[in-house]
Amino acid sequence: MLNAEDVTFGGSSLERAAHYREDTQKLKELQKSGKAIVIWRGKPLFDYETRALMRIDPEHAILTEAIANPIFLGIEEDGTAIFAHDISSWDDPMRDEAALANFFDPSQNHYPGFSETQVFTELRGVMAKLTIRDAELAATGRGIFEWHRIHGFCAKCGGKSEPSMGGWQRDCPSCGAHHFPRTDPVVIVLATKGNSILMGRSHGWPDGMYSLLAGFMEPGETMEAAARREVFEESGIRLGAIRYLSSQPWPFPASLMIGCAGEAENNEITIDPKEIEDARWFTREEVFAATHGQNPMLKPARKGSIAHFLIHRWLSDTLD
Ligand SMILES: [Zn+2]
Repeated sequence: MLNAEDVTFGGSSLERAAHYREDTQKLKELQKSGKAIVIWRGKPLFDYETRALMRIDPEHAILTEAIANPIFLGIEEDGTAIFAHDISSWDDPMRDEAALANFFDPSQNHYPGFSETQVFTELRGVMAKLTIRDAELAATGRGIFEWHRIHGFCAKCGGKSEPSMGGWQRDCPSCGAHHFPRTDPVVIVLATKGNSILMGRSHGWPDGMYSLLAGFMEPGETMEAAARREVFEESGIRLGAIRYLSSQPWPFPASLMIGCAGEAENNEITIDPKEIEDARWFTREEVFAATHGQNPMLKPARKGSIAHFLIHRWLSDTLD
């Protein structure tokens, strides 16, 4: 697919400067002259006025809340090093725990001293507003902090592990094992039959919301096999040749969405009710109307998601 990396989180060619990760002295120098992005419980500090991630000076008081050494994300074109700080231990007295536990957290969290427009906010809510650079920084920071949060112990011996390499690795002092950030591949499939695409909905989704079928790849499986298996398991539809379209880092919490396309070999849908609530064929006209808010039966996929990107490309006949 041409311009496949135009997808949100498609990457901004950030110079990650991995050769500095093991040089702790160099990292300290870069940190002093660099800038920080800040994340609280998975939510980046974002300014709604400038529509940008906040870049904070290294001596700013908010960074004293950091729970560990920052992650070295890379060096921008002007030479500025960018570090990500996790201040999740900050105790926001105004926080709404029920909202924070939601699949999509609508609440915002305001750190003292910042203006009203500068808040910790749900990344999915602002992802379509971000520049490609900010999207890459936020996705990387969020993804790697979540990995640290749930990988505090060695998967080999159970001992407590420690971050190293600028935050890109964890080492186990007990057995010497090294652990690296995880990425879990997910196939997401644009299954077509003539003028229609196949979309389904999970249990508990908002009324009218349908999206492309997707599922985790399994060990020993190719991308093509996973795409055929997922679609068949969920809908009973068999796909022929599968082709790769585009991929998207999706740090909720650690996925790589692999968008691909296949043409259906049968029409009749038989859903697996344990996996999904419904699946249907939607014509091009029905989907087009939905993207213009003119189809009360169908809500379009969220802007910024790879589903939205692929469906839009299919509608405009620019998948190739
Ligand atoms: Zn170990």
